[in-house]
Amino acid sequence: MSTPRKRPRRTKKKPAKDRTWLIGPAPDDAFGSASDAPPPPGPEAPPLAIDERFEHLLENPDLYTAVRTALPARKPQSVGRPSTHPPYVYFLFLCAISVFGSARSTACHLQRDMWWGAVREAVRRHLGPEEADALAPVGPSRSQWNYFFKNHLKKHVPAVRDASRDLWIRQALDMGMLKETRGRGSWIYPERDQVIHGDATVAAPPSDHTHHETADEETGEIRRHRVDDDASHTTEGGGRKVYGNKFLSLAVRAANTPHSRVILALESIRHKSRARDPERDDEGTAVVRLVQHILRTAPGIRAFTYDTALRGVHRAPLIAEGIVVFTPQHGGLEPHPLHQRRSKKCTHKLYAVEGRACEWRLTVDGKAYYTPLPVDELERRKENFARFYHRLTIPCPEGDHGLRIRVDETKEDREIDPSTKKQRFNRTEHLRQIAPGTVAGNRLKGFRQDSESSHSRFDQSYPHKRVPAYGANAALLIYIGYAWVNNSISRALGRKPADLAS
Ligand SMILES: [Zn+2]
Repeated sequence: MSTPRKRPRRTKKKPAKDRTWLIGPAPDDAFGSASDAPPPPGPEAPPLAIDERFEHLLENPDLYTAVRTALPARKPQSVGRPSTHPPYVYFLFLCAISVFGSARSTACHLQRDMWWGAVREAVRRHLGPEEADALAPVGPSRSQWNYFFKNHLKKHVPAVRDASRDLWIRQALDMGMLKETRGRGSWIYPERDQVIHGDATVAAPPSDHTHHETADEETGEIRRHRVDDDASHTTEGGGRKVYGNKFLSLAVRAANTPHSRVILALESIRHKSRARDPERDDEGTAVVRLVQHILRTAPGIRAFTYDTALRGVHRAPLIAEGIVVFTPQHGGLEPHPLHQRRSKKCTHKLYAVEGRACEWRLTVDGKAYYTPLPVDELERRKENFARFYHRLTIPCPEGDHGLRIRVDETKEDREIDPSTKKQRFNRTEHLRQIAPGTVAGNRLKGFRQDSESSHSRFDQSYPHKRVPAYGANAALLIYIGYAWVNNSISRALGRKPADLAS
C-alpha cells in the first residue's frame, strides 16, 4: 500500500560533483562493514476487524484512569445543557472516531445495541454493575458529542495530552520495553525496544478553504466556508505543497513483534511564524522537551532516531542526557578542522567530514581528499552529564596511532570565539556518535520508518485522509484518540517476545 508522504523531505544534499573536495569510502569498523547482509524484514502485522479494534479499546483499563486524571468529574445536573453520559463515555467516543472514521459514524454505531452493549459490558467489568446499569439505553448522539467536545474536551487538551502520555510510557515499560537490562544491546547496536523513534507530519483538516468567504467569479455570489484557522501551507522537499496542522509523535516497538508499537507522546507543533502562533513550540524544541520527559521515566533508553529536522543544537542536550541520537547527516556541511597530530616523523591533519573524523590529503590535481578513519569503539562515560568518545585509529607507515575524540559538545565548544562572535565549534552538528551512511546508522534510520507508517495509518483512518476536526487542538485530540486505539491493540496483542520476558 503506498501513501503519499506528507512530511517535508528536508535532506537536500549538494550533488557531490559540485563539491571542491572528495571523500573516501567508509572503512570496515565498529559501525559495520559494507559486506554485512541487511537485516531481514520483520513479520507483517495481521489485519484486524473493526470489532476487534473496538474491543481492545474498551478493554484498556488505562483509558478510564486517563479520564479520571484529566477531566473534571461530572457535576450533578449543573447549569447549561444536561449531559446524559459520563465523561469516560465521551472519551471512548473520541477514541472510537479513529475506529469508525468520523463522529457521525461513531454516533450512528453507538446507537446500535451491538456496539453500545459492548460498551456497557466493558463498563460493568471495569467500573462495576452500578455504573453500567446507570448508563443511558443508547450512546451519545452527534449533537451531544459536539457539545461535550467543544465545551469540555477542548478545554482540557493539555491535561488529556499529558495524562495520556504518562500512561503510554508506563504501558511501554510494563510491556518490557525501554528498560535498562545489563548486557543487552550496545550503544552502536541497541535493541529495537531501547530505541525511541519520532516523526512529524502535516495532517489535512476537513476543508482546504483558506478564506471564510469567496465570491463566485461569474455570478459574484458570496459563498461561506468553514476554515481551519490553525492550518497553513508547507512545501515539501519535492516542491509539493501540503496544507494542514503539524503533529509530532514519538513511539517505540519490540523487534519482530507485530502490533507492538506504543505511541509514547504526541504534540501539536508550530509551523507558522512565532508571531502568528506563539502558543506552540517549533519542531526541534518540542522534540527535545518530549524526549527529555520520557527519559525521566524510562532511563533505560539507549537511542533516539529522527530525521534531518533535528540539528546539532537539538542533539547536544539529548546526548548530554546519555543517549545516542541518530539522524541522517544534513547536506551542505563543509569539512571542519578537528585535530592535528605532529611528530618528528609524521603529521596527520584530521577534519570532521560527513559526521566523522577523516584524514586530509591533497590529490595530484590539488583537490582535498578526506579518508574516513576507522572507529574501534563508541565509548560512553556518565556522571552528571554523559560524554561520548570515538576511539579511532590513524593508520600510519610509522606505526598506527590511537586517538580518542569527544563526540558530545564540550564546555570549550560552547565558548564564544571573539573573532567570529559565534560558538567555537558546533561539534554535534559536525561529528556524529554513529556515522550516517554506515550499517549501524542505516539500521537506526530504518527504525524511523515505523513512525512514517504510523502517520499514514493515522490519516487512513478517516474518509479522504482528512482528520475530522477543525483547529490544531481539536485535531490533536483526534490524534490522541487514534493513539489510544493503537496502544490498546498493542496492549492486547503486542506481547513481548520470549527473549525479553524477565
Ligand atoms: Zn603517523
